[in-house]
Amino acid sequence: MSSLEGKVVAVTGGASGIGFATVQKLLAAKAKVAAADVSPCPDAFKDHADVMFTVVDVSSRTQVNGWVQAVVARFGRLDAMVPNAGINHEMGIYDEDAVFQRTVAVNLTGVWNCGTEAYRQFNTQNSVGVICNTASIAGIRPSKGAPIYSAIKSGVIGLTKSWALEWAAQGVRVNALAPGPVASAGYINAIKEKPEFDLSQRVPMQRVGEPEEMASVIVFLLSSEASFVTGHVVAADGGMLLAGSSP
Ligand code: NAD
Repeated sequence: MSSLEGKVVAVTGGASGIGFATVQKLLAAKAKVAAADVSPCPDAFKDHADVMFTVVDVSSRTQVNGWVQAVVARFGRLDAMVPNAGINHEMGIYDEDAVFQRTVAVNLTGVWNCGTEAYRQFNTQNSVGVICNTASIAGIRPSKGAPIYSAIKSGVIGLTKSWALEWAAQGVRVNALAPGPVASAGYINAIKEKPEFDLSQRVPMQRVGEPEEMASVIVFLLSSEASFVTGHVVAADGGMLLAGSSP
């Protein structure tokens, strides 16, 4: 039996890529899944009894709060949160305030909103809970051409470790996945526009990752198989960090 069976797990960015694959793997583990995204519900989740799909902009505290309350109203509780939604509109843009502000709003404030709302709900329920953020290897080693994205993903790693330390005594675990390049819609569309950002040949395994390979790590970190793991950043990058190649 999966340790996630019957657990209520919230996933942001659930309409595409890593988030979509994570929702699918959680359903296979018999979890109940609350997926949120700014994009509409994918056909795969429409009318699925164990999926509640909500259009939410994670940069809005009000929307995230309303979403978590709606999840609790539907499923009765919240056991885990995966703040995964993210954008990378930078790709060589080094000096546009609007890109900086929006990337902070989605990639860092969005994680803050979801993590803190989840923690409050865990306390309201008087239960332990688990959070798995999506960072990036760019938050561990700066990604050339993406200083904004890299700095903000470092912030996600900082939040992950700080929350893990603050909440460990209560049994709340917080970890992060740090993907290398992954063939999600965001990445594929970006390299169509700017082929110079195709990183596949810089990965020692000579390919980019698949969203399902990222989802597997997230599901592991959420599960009781990782019951003594907290405050860690798990890179799934085909050896990119090990080889010292810049993402
Ligand atoms: P993706 O573009 O396929 O999926 C991201 C999803 O987030 C989309 O469905 C999008 O609509 C949603 N989203 C964007 N802004 C939102 C908002 N304000 N509120 C709610 N949802 C929003 O990309 P992905 O690769 O699956 O990205 C998932 C995470 O992985 C992101 O945090 C990204 O930074 C991270 N990541 C991706 C790669 C990669 O190469 N693909 C590498 C490292 C880290």
